[in-house]
Amino acid sequence: MRAMVLHGTGPVEGRPLKLEEVPIPEPREREVLVEVDACGVCRTDLHVVEGDLPPLRSAVIPGHEIVGKVVQLGPNVRALSVGDRVGVPWLHWTCGRCEYCRTGRENLCEEKTFTGYGENGGYAPFVVGKEDYVLPLPPEGDSAGWAPFLCAGLIGYRALKTAMPRFGGRIGFFGFGGSAHLTLQLASRLGYETVAYSRTSAHLALAKSLGATETVLTTEPRSSPSPPLDSAIVFAPAGSVVIDALKEVRKGGTVAIAGIHMSPIPSIDYDRLLFGERRIASVEANTRADAREFLDLSAHLPLKSTVEPRPLAKANEALADLKSGRIDGVLVLDVRSSPT
Ligand SMILES: [Zn+2]
Ligand SMILES: [Zn+2]
Repeated sequence: MRAMVLHGTGPVEGRPLKLEEVPIPEPREREVLVEVDACGVCRTDLHVVEGDLPPLRSAVIPGHEIVGKVVQLGPNVRALSVGDRVGVPWLHWTCGRCEYCRTGRENLCEEKTFTGYGENGGYAPFVVGKEDYVLPLPPEGDSAGWAPFLCAGLIGYRALKTAMPRFGGRIGFFGFGGSAHLTLQLASRLGYETVAYSRTSAHLALAKSLGATETVLTTEPRSSPSPPLDSAIVFAPAGSVVIDALKEVRKGGTVAIAGIHMSPIPSIDYDRLLFGERRIASVEANTRADAREFLDLSAHLPLKSTVEPRPLAKANEALADLKSGRIDGVLVLDVRSSPT
């Protein structure tokens, strides 16, 4: 198969991913082989490719928002059948034995592995997933449309639960990319007041069309002060945005950080910005229970993803566009119909 392979990390403008012929992987015990229809392009892929996350192996195929169908079963697979539509997410495997796994916090597992980082991912026509970690998807809807749910949506869902453990209230979204566009819809549909903050007016227009109660262009002074937020989620990978969010959050509120990597957070004025039981909380990956809840909710509401398809061979260019913010919604590699 022809896959996009990373041999050495570097700025994405230097096109570190190479289209190469590699063997189709063989599913082992309790693994399945998935033929990839589509794979979302996530900011974490950018961190993997550029080396913000340290390399774990000499060569890896990125991609962890994978939608496809099961085409081959390894030995002793019981829960999945050939032909099932599935998603392969970031959380590839957990140990099941450590303190975190035993207390319902497998997202913090000491030995967990990740799709498209420690294990090969979906910038390829085929990928192997573990039966217990591959997520069954409904047959409805196009594959590209489901891709962003598998990380952008899932992380946003966990961030929403972290930021606002009770229903209702006024919640701010800082940085309006793939994750925010699904999470804002979810929050709006669940009855929260939603406020989108961005430097880009096109992103705010999208936020408005998805149900945002209010939008704030952060590059311009505001004519009148907005009411304080009950909580906020920071999706932007810039530490200074955490301070911006804290300034908007009332006493008792949480600023949840949804990214896996962030530039340093500037010093915090404790008396003014943190005192009053305000909290800053990071979000790391998600549990399988989060995934089941979120995919159920998404299908039921339903949530709509705004995707822009790209050919597999243009993965470097897609990542460069994501880095520069030249996109609305989510970029998805249309693997199935890409010429290889
Ligand atoms: Zn564990
Ligand atoms: Zn991701």
